[in-house]
Amino acid sequence: MLLTKKSGAAAGAPVSSSFVHRLRHGLSQAVPTMDRRAFLRRSGLGVGAGLAATQLTLVKKADAAGAAKSIDGSGTVEVKRTVCTHCSVGCASDAVVENGVWVRQEPVFDSPINLGAHCAKGAALREHGHGEYRLRYPMKLVNGKYQRISWDEALNEISARMLDLRKQSGPDSLYVIGSSKHSNEQAYLLRKWMSFWGSNNCDHQARICHSTTVAGVANTWGYGAMTNSYNDMQNSKVALYIGSNAAEAHPVSMLHMLHSKETGCKMIVVDPRFTRTAAKADEYVRIRSGSDIPFLFGLLYHIFKNGWEDKQYIHDRVFGMDKVREDVLAKWTPDKVEEACGVPEAQMIKVATMLHESKPGTIVWCMGQTQHTIGNAMVRASCILQLALGNVGVSGGGANIFRGHDNVQGATDVGPNPDSLPGYYGLAEGSWKHFAATWGVDFEWIKKQYASPAMMTKSGITVSRWIDGILEKNELIDQESNIRGVLFWGHAPNSQTRGLEMKKAMDKLDLLVVIDPYPSATAAMAAMTSAPGDLNPNRAVYLLPACTQFETSGSATASNRSLQWREKVIEPLWESRSDHMIMYQLAQKLGFDKELVKNYQMQKVKGLDEPVPEDILREINKCVWTIGYTGQSPERLKAHMKNMAAFDIKTLKARGNVRDKETGVDLTGDYFGLPWPCWGTPEMRHPGSPNLYDTSKHVMDGGGNFRANFGVERDGVSLLAEDGSHSLGADITTGYPEFDHVLLKKLGWWGELTPDEQAKAEGKNWKTDPTGAIIRVVMKNHGCHPFGNGKARAVVWNFPDPIPQHREPLYGTRPDLMAKYPTHDDKRAFWRLPTLYKSVQDKNIADGLDKKFPLILTSGRLVEYEGGGEETRSNPWLAELQQESFVEINPKAASERGIRNGERCWVVTPTGARLNVQALVTERVGPDTCWMPFHFSGRWQGQDMLQFYPAGAYPVVRGEAVNTATTYGYDSVTMMQETKTTICNVEKA
Ligand code: SF4
Repeated sequence: MLLTKKSGAAAGAPVSSSFVHRLRHGLSQAVPTMDRRAFLRRSGLGVGAGLAATQLTLVKKADAAGAAKSIDGSGTVEVKRTVCTHCSVGCASDAVVENGVWVRQEPVFDSPINLGAHCAKGAALREHGHGEYRLRYPMKLVNGKYQRISWDEALNEISARMLDLRKQSGPDSLYVIGSSKHSNEQAYLLRKWMSFWGSNNCDHQARICHSTTVAGVANTWGYGAMTNSYNDMQNSKVALYIGSNAAEAHPVSMLHMLHSKETGCKMIVVDPRFTRTAAKADEYVRIRSGSDIPFLFGLLYHIFKNGWEDKQYIHDRVFGMDKVREDVLAKWTPDKVEEACGVPEAQMIKVATMLHESKPGTIVWCMGQTQHTIGNAMVRASCILQLALGNVGVSGGGANIFRGHDNVQGATDVGPNPDSLPGYYGLAEGSWKHFAATWGVDFEWIKKQYASPAMMTKSGITVSRWIDGILEKNELIDQESNIRGVLFWGHAPNSQTRGLEMKKAMDKLDLLVVIDPYPSATAAMAAMTSAPGDLNPNRAVYLLPACTQFETSGSATASNRSLQWREKVIEPLWESRSDHMIMYQLAQKLGFDKELVKNYQMQKVKGLDEPVPEDILREINKCVWTIGYTGQSPERLKAHMKNMAAFDIKTLKARGNVRDKETGVDLTGDYFGLPWPCWGTPEMRHPGSPNLYDTSKHVMDGGGNFRANFGVERDGVSLLAEDGSHSLGADITTGYPEFDHVLLKKLGWWGELTPDEQAKAEGKNWKTDPTGAIIRVVMKNHGCHPFGNGKARAVVWNFPDPIPQHREPLYGTRPDLMAKYPTHDDKRAFWRLPTLYKSVQDKNIADGLDKKFPLILTSGRLVEYEGGGEETRSNPWLAELQQESFVEINPKAASERGIRNGERCWVVTPTGARLNVQALVTERVGPDTCWMPFHFSGRWQGQDMLQFYPAGAYPVVRGEAVNTATTYGYDSVTMMQETKTTICNVEKA
């Protein structure tokens, strides 16, 4: 009976050895599975029993085509397989390299992700690598002009300045802004680098694009990531896009959606602006910017009223939906919904009916939903809608949360976050010890690098607020010194709000270093003339040329959690160096190089030492158990890249028995890119998890359930899944907590570890066991999930609004609604800084700002450009396509101001900023809203900044940055900046 069951369920599980193992250890398996009663008896757990919590907080928060001769027979032609660096879709590209020169590129038709498609940016990659407007050598700002210096001079001077700052003001006086365009290996190495420097003052782009998603989603059901995949959207029957303009921001993802539409999927687009994505919708809904919760809960109102919620699913797998139901039915009646978001009842009913009648349904959101002062609550409202419909954990359903940059997911997972070590391990002492052991360094030595033990476990300042770390009064910040030095390591300043204050902050610094293939707007802003008295006369500014991802190798994690390995296409151009080489060289000067690279081999690149990326990934494989970054060895990832054609384009699963011909790596049963979690050691051969929390599959086939991460009971109610709700073939058929050595012993499973494993796993849990044996035994032998089997939370009791509440933005055009839905109270010492809410909103109402600035200002993406845009606007192929920064304004608002289409105008905001842009008069936006793209920089309140860039290294297209003019406002959990709802007026120029 047992043998039959196991062979049927656990693909690839060594059934007989598992059975023999049990016999050897004298374990009785009278019944093959454990129901709730048996489980509670054996484990000693129960509601109210109080599980000894584990120590770590997680959610707190081408194929070379083979060398051939070139046409003239003089050299070799090679094909290198790489991945586009311009968004999170992860389109593969084959680069044709002749005698070391990248001469041509082809989209990869075998890629299950892009199927041979590219958008304009992907088609222009070669020009990005060979870009003529790149920074070519290190430079230093001298008397307002950038001058060339040598690498030795630059590294010596920068490190001397850093050590001076450390001596005078401590390690927290330095702030490092990492990159969501770093590879996984570089992002991870930078977090390690910061730890050895001795500060948590590091962050990256993800803070200001999806931090609210990560916190909100992880606190709802376990992990802060997209649950399904672009490909899986082909299985959806309805797709609700809210705050996503995928047709421009994630163009190739639309391949899958359009296939889905051909087979009957209904597409609903909800946005204040009629976007190119909306143009493809079956139903377009225009909402007032920032009113996502009234809209989403307005849908829930009709779902609950009609009894359309999935009652069994909610009973089995969701905590707190009854409380949400009460709240929604009381507060979000159709009249209130229309008043708050502008959508009439008939359209709300129509959309709710579409969601009810078409299952499974998916929801897609992006920065339109995340970048608000209540972003954490908005994303949870989206999650709750999907939970109510029973749409999470099923193919065709889920929350498809499209990330931005190519590796923003990976950089979030393992990179330089201020509140966590890699893998969401947090900053608790136990986490530090786990990593110290992996890194092979003494925990006490790391502790001494920090200003104090308290600063080691205290979250750092976020990238959204580094300017306040400089400008805020010292007595109000929660660290010894203000920030005095900033390293901009692959980050665009114009992607951040409050540009005028940022310029002041840059002027006040002692040290500013930009490390980037393109010097970015930071270089020009730093060189721009300062207001009298602002400039620190001792300030030093340096620019270091970094390689693009085409001049090195490494892995990147696409939005669907698949990892892809990029081959090096070309050798580093000019004097550029890879980011990981620069980290190593700076560490040499700062005195922690040996600790940094202890576990890595070094390779020579242009005669210089560089850590081997494969070895960095192997180190990640050895420690990031929490999110399953442990199964994706370099060998497995490379085999996937070489054998893309083997993977199904809907399921992402390898078809048939597949083995890489050269290396013999077995891909059978794998999902493309081993989407995390890919559990256990690479030898365990977990296939990756294509759709999270999917109980219809065995855990060794990528199946799962919601994570038991919030305890075992709350208010006398169990937080574990109900009887019968478990992943396919699990030995425990009820909810269960996460596994540690104690639980394994209680269940009689401890004997299934080898004696050596037992010695190493003693006292550990599944996240800290260095052998991975706890994970192996739980998954392979028993079909259970190491992180337990819990309920998702509709009520997140540790957040400011446990049930998501609508709150108006700080800067808005509707004081009447601000009175009904006021913002939060001000906070002190929040991520080391005071953070204002109510005092700002109240003052804005008192000052009558809605009269002076009667238009909502919101922003978004264009298909031609990416992020802050310096790279893509420096690419002549792309620059030709979009040459002007502009503001979209409705014909009514334009005619009231005497502005005609194509004319110059001034966009003015309460910060005092004035942006000179072209008017695009269009009904894409409603009469109360203006929209600007956020990719521009290089013009500053009417002035061309060309003279401030280093000679030869400036973007071809320059324009006003919308964020020069955006206002104050931060999410109440994560410090996400508010970019999507502020106010402006527009004047004829
Ligand atoms: Fe694909 Fe995104 Fe690159 Fe376009 S920008 S080619 S959609 S990865």
